[in-house]
Amino acid sequence: MNKDNSNLLEKIVSLCKRRGFIFPGSEIYGGLRGTWDYGPLGSELKFNLKQSWWDYMVRERDNVFPMNASIMMNPRVWEASGHVASFTDPLIECKTCHERFRADKQEDIKEHEERHAKNKEKVEWTEPKQFNILVEAKLGVIEGEKTTVYLRGEITQGVHVNFKNIVDSMHPKIPFGVAQIGKAFRNEITPRNFIFRSREFEQMEMQTYVKPDEKEAMEMFEAMKNFRMKWYLDLGMNKKKLRFREHAPDERAHYARAAWDIEYETPWGWDEAEGIHHRGDWDLSRHSQFSGQDLSYFDQEAKERFIPWVIETSAGVERPLLYFLLDAYTEEGDRVVLKLHPKLAPYKAAVFPLLKNKPELVAKAQGIYKELKNNFTVAWDERGNIGKRYFAQDEIGTPCCITIDFQTLEDDTVTIRDRDTMKQERVRADELNEILKKMAD
Ligand code: ATP
Repeated sequence: MNKDNSNLLEKIVSLCKRRGFIFPGSEIYGGLRGTWDYGPLGSELKFNLKQSWWDYMVRERDNVFPMNASIMMNPRVWEASGHVASFTDPLIECKTCHERFRADKQEDIKEHEERHAKNKEKVEWTEPKQFNILVEAKLGVIEGEKTTVYLRGEITQGVHVNFKNIVDSMHPKIPFGVAQIGKAFRNEITPRNFIFRSREFEQMEMQTYVKPDEKEAMEMFEAMKNFRMKWYLDLGMNKKKLRFREHAPDERAHYARAAWDIEYETPWGWDEAEGIHHRGDWDLSRHSQFSGQDLSYFDQEAKERFIPWVIETSAGVERPLLYFLLDAYTEEGDRVVLKLHPKLAPYKAAVFPLLKNKPELVAKAQGIYKELKNNFTVAWDERGNIGKRYFAQDEIGTPCCITIDFQTLEDDTVTIRDRDTMKQERVRADELNEILKKMAD
């Protein structure tokens, strides 16, 4: 097996474009930096990734409540949360070419300085300026009287501002979680590394409200850290490429009592997949103060009223998606295989008639294809020779290929070929539903 990591990112970018996973945003107009469009296979992969998170975090657990809040919120939300004042990155500018960078991203700065050094130029930088990365939009119909709103910079606040609604409508018993998946927007100074740092992206988050007790909060924090790491491992990510990293004190938001990241070893070094944060009572206290509403919780059992603390798990969608692609990419001899977990794979199977000019084979294969399509995403391919069709499916991560041949017409059996082992087996056509179901579970 050849896992040559040189140019791995370039290989993924090219495969994603060529095979319909991910395209540069607005490409025919020259693009829009930091935006990406998901094509047919990328949309399926993204959907599967989110579904897997949702099943794992919401459906399979008790006392977790789903939410879906607005992207645009009252601007006071972002004053209360501290984003208007301090959702900033330090910006510096190269005095020679005026390109702008984040002063805290040493790698980018080094790369830029090396680029100038090749022309025997020494880079001089401007002093760092704090740059707010909230994306603004204008709402209203009368010119001059429009209100500035912010496209949410994180999905977290949509949950905290609904804390009272959740408590009043669902009567949850503490500790309880509120989960959400949705878009977030950041005016990133340097979008880079494909979808890793985009200006529009999605997040998958759970806010767990706990009693204001350091021991209980830290127990929940540890449990969440391990639970989140297990999600990556259950989906088959290489354990050696995953690690926890504790934030240094100067990286931590001032209100965070503990902050750890789950990181993946990317071609550009270890980098963040998601964060687990102990946010104390920062969010609810601030929203209570700014809105004038009582956001406390009454614990029926202990007969106590308090403002809960929050343990947050905040994952992006795009970063894990990119890491799963990097992790799955394998070159074996003359084939490229995406060894994606079947849960994530855009297609669970591909169905082929052995020959496309034999109507009875095509009709039989179409019947099997349509039947499987009721329960799974399945690809159909009748072009070229079988070997090429197998390789084309390997490259997009389809876990198995089902071929309908002349024997199928006689005894209703098909061959099923495994993506990873390339082994072929003959099975009864009426077993296929069960086989695919087991595989996807
Ligand atoms: P960074 O330091 O890399 O800018 P962050 O620490 O500010 O990221 P958080 O605010 O903790 O990120 O956001 C939670 C998660 O949202 C991140 O772990 C990441 O997966 C995702 N995320 C944040 N910013 C982006 C972005 N610009 N593009 C894609 N995903 C992002």
